Amino acid sequence: MEFLINSLVELITQTSTNLPPDVRAAMGLAISVESPGTQSAQALGIIASNIDMAQQDEGPICQDTGMPTFVIHTPVGVNQIQLAKAVRAAVAEATKRGKLRPNSVDSLTGKNSGNNLGIETPVIHFEQWEEDEIEVKLILKGGGCENKNIQYSVPCNLDHLGRADRNLEGVRKCILHAVWQAQGQGCAPGAVGVCIGSDRAHGYVLAKYELFRTLDDVNPDPELAALEAEVMKGANRLGVGAMGFGGNSSLIGCKITAANRLPASFFVSVAYECWAFRRLGVRLDAGSGAITEWLYRDPSRPVERMAKSEGFPLSGREVVLTAPISEEQVRALKVGDVVLITGEMFTGRDAVHAYLMKNKPPADLHGAVLYHCGPVMLQEGGQWKVKAAGPTTSIREEPYQAHVIKEYGVRAVIGKGGMGPKTLAALKEHGAVYLNGIGGAAQYYARSIEKVLGVHLLEFGIPEAMWHLRASNFIAIVTMDAHGNSLHADVEAKTGSALETLQTV
Ligand code: SF4
Repeated sequence: MEFLINSLVELITQTSTNLPPDVRAAMGLAISVESPGTQSAQALGIIASNIDMAQQDEGPICQDTGMPTFVIHTPVGVNQIQLAKAVRAAVAEATKRGKLRPNSVDSLTGKNSGNNLGIETPVIHFEQWEEDEIEVKLILKGGGCENKNIQYSVPCNLDHLGRADRNLEGVRKCILHAVWQAQGQGCAPGAVGVCIGSDRAHGYVLAKYELFRTLDDVNPDPELAALEAEVMKGANRLGVGAMGFGGNSSLIGCKITAANRLPASFFVSVAYECWAFRRLGVRLDAGSGAITEWLYRDPSRPVERMAKSEGFPLSGREVVLTAPISEEQVRALKVGDVVLITGEMFTGRDAVHAYLMKNKPPADLHGAVLYHCGPVMLQEGGQWKVKAAGPTTSIREEPYQAHVIKEYGVRAVIGKGGMGPKTLAALKEHGAVYLNGIGGAAQYYARSIEKVLGVHLLEFGIPEAMWHLRASNFIAIVTMDAHGNSLHADVEAKTGSALETLQTV
């Protein structure tokens, strides 16, 4: 059992910290087609450095290590109950080692279990097969991209694309719409796994299973292969770009399957996966539990560096912001400016924002920087250490952000994917700014945190607590300013027009 658990911990560690070669190749292509000097190219530069840092230090590529989802094939006769116990023990151990963020939250009490174990977590799918070995495949898909999954019941009317009918042309429209609606919130450039047909629940399962295919394979069904190619071509003409900044590369993969359906139903289920596409697998000796083979990669082949240059070359024109930030400083900023945060900041995400709607903040937020982030933290020698700390999707805080800015005097909000009109109006009225960090760049940003100064509301769990941090040269881009400008609204409108040109093949 111990040997088996060790093998599974190694699988989890490698999945969380080292992207497979097919994803690296697809990201390399995405980087090569982006125009140098653009915000998308800058974002991809940071992402490439982050991928290298994660692999070198065996740290999580992204702080959101997602819902661990295992697909396991066992020979007939293998005890699946014991195997599930081993998986759970390995998940808890990997969490203790900081390779997984504690992500399992009781949906009724809101309590984080702290070890990634809980009702139906991790997710384990078992299947039997007629081979001698056990195969374990794992995908770590984070919440930001999971929230951008979408299911269409066809026929339906789609923004900018018109009617999608019950045929492959209708499916093509649905998938393009899925990529468009994700914008930067799922950390583009992303990949999509798609299921045509089935029922609502199983369609989503099959769509996620498509993400276990390698990005460079070719669909054995010629019709689906042609559709995948067509979607890739169209999606990369949309102009969403990395992090939704606008750019040439929006999609790194499209994998489609079809399943039979009821005569009355026609679902198109889309699983949207971010660039931090963490998926690996192993074959295990059914007797000893030892790893006999790695899937998706060849461990004897050295891992190639992704970054061709420094992650984000500074131009000298960056604006340094140190809290407390004045209204005048914020009003001088405009969309497109690059800022370096040096000094104190507080993290705050879903639980903190809900708390601040009813309670005073546990620290003075006047002039403060509020970072939408749920970090991976470990205690070492009695001190909290940041293990991964990229931005989380900000739009979830849209119902609360304007209130927090107005009531408590926050001057800068850092997150990813942008926010909506209510927040934009509050930025203008109260003098505040929204800064876009690079989603998933958890190792890159962890290196910009000099010290953990303290923690409030730890009862919300590690990702949801309010961490008091000291940052140094933390890079972000102004994407919503205090003058009513929003890069996100602009890109959404522009890409919507581009979507209209793709109404027909
Ligand atoms: S890269 Fe973005 S979408 Fe993906 S897990 Fe990380 S924060 Fe979530």
